[in-house]
Amino acid sequence: MMLSVLEAQQRILSYFSPTELIHVPLDQSAGRVLALDCFATNDLPPFNNSAMDGFAIIAQDILKASPNHPVFLKVVADIPAGSRSNVVISHGLAARIMTGAPLPNGADAVVMIENTDCNFHTPGNPPPERVAVFHPSASGTNIRQKGEDIPAGQITIRKGSMLRPQDLGLLAMLGVATIPVHRAPCIALLSSGDELISVDAPLTPGKIRDANTYTLNAFAQQTGAKVIRLGIVPDDRTAIKSVLDLAVDKKADLIVSSAGVSVGAFDFVRQVVEEHGELDFWKVNVRPGKPLAFGKYHDIPFFGLPGNPVSAFISFELFVRPVLQKISGNASYYRPRQIVRLQEEITSDGRESYLRATVVEESGHWLAKLTGHQGSGNLLSLVQANALLIVPSGVKSLPAGTDLEAWFI
Ligand code: AMP
Ligand code: MG
Repeated sequence: MMLSVLEAQQRILSYFSPTELIHVPLDQSAGRVLALDCFATNDLPPFNNSAMDGFAIIAQDILKASPNHPVFLKVVADIPAGSRSNVVISHGLAARIMTGAPLPNGADAVVMIENTDCNFHTPGNPPPERVAVFHPSASGTNIRQKGEDIPAGQITIRKGSMLRPQDLGLLAMLGVATIPVHRAPCIALLSSGDELISVDAPLTPGKIRDANTYTLNAFAQQTGAKVIRLGIVPDDRTAIKSVLDLAVDKKADLIVSSAGVSVGAFDFVRQVVEEHGELDFWKVNVRPGKPLAFGKYHDIPFFGLPGNPVSAFISFELFVRPVLQKISGNASYYRPRQIVRLQEEITSDGRESYLRATVVEESGHWLAKLTGHQGSGNLLSLVQANALLIVPSGVKSLPAGTDLEAWFI
């Protein structure tokens, strides 16, 4: 039976739930996923304060102020930011006030210094004894009201959100010093095959360098996962069993293997996994990446991805990344899609296809071109791509000018 991509994704996702909740210090929480809704425990701003350097006054006092007929007020206090004053402003009085300083009682507006005869910013100079105000200010002008940004009790950041720099700033303003997050998932990665040699080994006949551990390791780390690198494993049952057991010892949340699960006579990974767990072989209606093995080794979910580097990458994107998103507590599992416009005709075999393309923006449109031959071993065309065009299943060709969905990668 052939599964659609969505069916395969949903089956896989149903096996996973978020990891346990832990707390991390605020300054280590960027990129982590908030595990609980964050409520404001205080108002922001926490008190009425001035939005300008100026003078706290009573708006009614300066109703008729003009450059030719300024209103003179007696300056009875000086309120820098970070201080508070018990002064009460009554008619005819003003207090010099700095941006962010608490508004004194009685005042209902702040006149910025530019509208007075004290229009200078010399640090350390004492306030004048009186100030001339040249323009009226309505009540409330230049005042940031307590709670106007966020009233206490309001939800500020929802659980499932990945924390960005601005989120950390807000959490700091709200006094949240430790952040509830889900433990980073731990993924064990191995590449299997007797043909594989490591990056620093000389090429010898019949051998190729292992690309997938590097691609998938970086990919997993980008999602915030911790990686246990099991490295290259030869086509040998004892060797395979011992690295898989290592993943069990280290309590990996999932194991991802590339290659070695197809029907080739030398595919030992499947035998070892089947002996100590279970493995299903799915045909997914997708190109590349049609064969997909999913099961468990002991109790650890196990993915067998195809070995070809592009297939491994796209299978990881389609089937593993959403799992990492889900177990990290992320509210959204899939990458956002963008509508792009084809610059050339493309063909497909009717499977849901992920084609490597470059997409550039030109006068409001995203224009897409393929990056050359789409063989599943041709990593260069994936390297040259900044997007994957998503050709829906059942579609065999699309003319130039067609709009279709894409993922930026
Ligand atoms: P398999 O899934 O074992 O049939 O492998 C399919 C193709 O992918 C073969 O040409 C392998 O040599 C190649 N391949 C498998 N693993 C890797 C890897 N880690 N890096 C690069 N190519 C690989
Ligand atoms: Mg192989």
